[in-house]
Amino acid sequence: MTIQRNPTRPVRIGRVTVGGGHAIAVQSMTATRTQDVDATVALVNALEEAGADIVRIAVDSEKDAAALAEIRRQTTATLSVDLQENYRLAERVAPHVDKIRYNPGHLYHHQRHLPWQEKVRFIASVAEDHDCALRVGVNCGSVDPEKKKQFAPDDDVGPILHSGLEHCEFLDDIGFTRYVVSLKDSDPAKVVAINRAFAQARPDVPLHLGVTEAGLPPDGIIKTRIAFEQLIGRGIGDTVRVSLTVPNDQKWQEIAAAREIIEDIQAGRLRSVVALDPSHLNIISCPSCSRVENEAFVELAQEVKKRTAYARDYAITIAVMGCRVNGPGETDDADLGLWCGPTRVNLKRGTETVGAFTYDEILDRLQEELDALIEAKTRAPAPG
Ligand code: SF4
Repeated sequence: MTIQRNPTRPVRIGRVTVGGGHAIAVQSMTATRTQDVDATVALVNALEEAGADIVRIAVDSEKDAAALAEIRRQTTATLSVDLQENYRLAERVAPHVDKIRYNPGHLYHHQRHLPWQEKVRFIASVAEDHDCALRVGVNCGSVDPEKKKQFAPDDDVGPILHSGLEHCEFLDDIGFTRYVVSLKDSDPAKVVAINRAFAQARPDVPLHLGVTEAGLPPDGIIKTRIAFEQLIGRGIGDTVRVSLTVPNDQKWQEIAAAREIIEDIQAGRLRSVVALDPSHLNIISCPSCSRVENEAFVELAQEVKKRTAYARDYAITIAVMGCRVNGPGETDDADLGLWCGPTRVNLKRGTETVGAFTYDEILDRLQEELDALIEAKTRAPAPG
């Protein structure tokens, strides 16, 4: 199958180049504690051996940054760092990585008096000084609140799309063009809509594709395949990440799934004629990372899937998130949501918080809420 790729500009990330017709680069991310240098180095190397072109590591603190320096010393992999709230850590981490990902939706947390433009100018100058590329990484679970206000509450595409476009415009204006963009949602249909609109507006900017919080295999792989087939099949996408909720020793599955999907698309073996069935239970869960509040998260997500299987024929979305970064936002859009704290799990019914429960209590509490929801749906008069 001949695919006419978008004429994106080449962006070098260490020894990997994305865009400009280069092979689609496959990425993954460590979910070990970054300060656990041995475990993180082992996972980085395992992912590289599994075929990862780029491996991302989360950094939230000075201690994480110090650990990253040691991780860099012990591995030859092409590294990317994931910054969320604390953008000022860019200066500490840039010497040790090939790319910095920042999230426009989390820049407001620190130095609230400073406009985002000044923060991005700082990150770009640090990247310039340390031969790093940038990723403007917009995520549905943490869209800039100021951007959201500019759009209708039910507009899920506009805020993400325009947050990305706005940052591209600013980076171009300050003369920093060594960046890629990601616009992620947990709904594959929205990922397709947003990235097609972006590629229409900015065909020159390389795109990092991904369905965020795609969940547990095989569902997470199916959701991702649906989006990737619709985008890569149209020449959109220069690097990809399949976000799966799996234990660290199974993270290689992200690479294997990505390579299989890309190969199938390029060979014309498309499978996503089957649309995601919205009338069935949909479990959204994040792939975990160093920020996960409790090591029991992946097991909890697996238990949620087992415990709620009886509800598979109900159009209900349950979100299971590892921490505060995308937890509160992503669970807002779900019928029932769990986001983890160190010793308790926050349970939500849509945007309403039901309470925080221990890891032993949470599954029973979730089931009570699910039963009540099913009851309400069963009693509700049939539409039309
Ligand atoms: S929600 Fe938190 S734990 Fe999960 S991937 Fe995002 S930052 Fe990591």
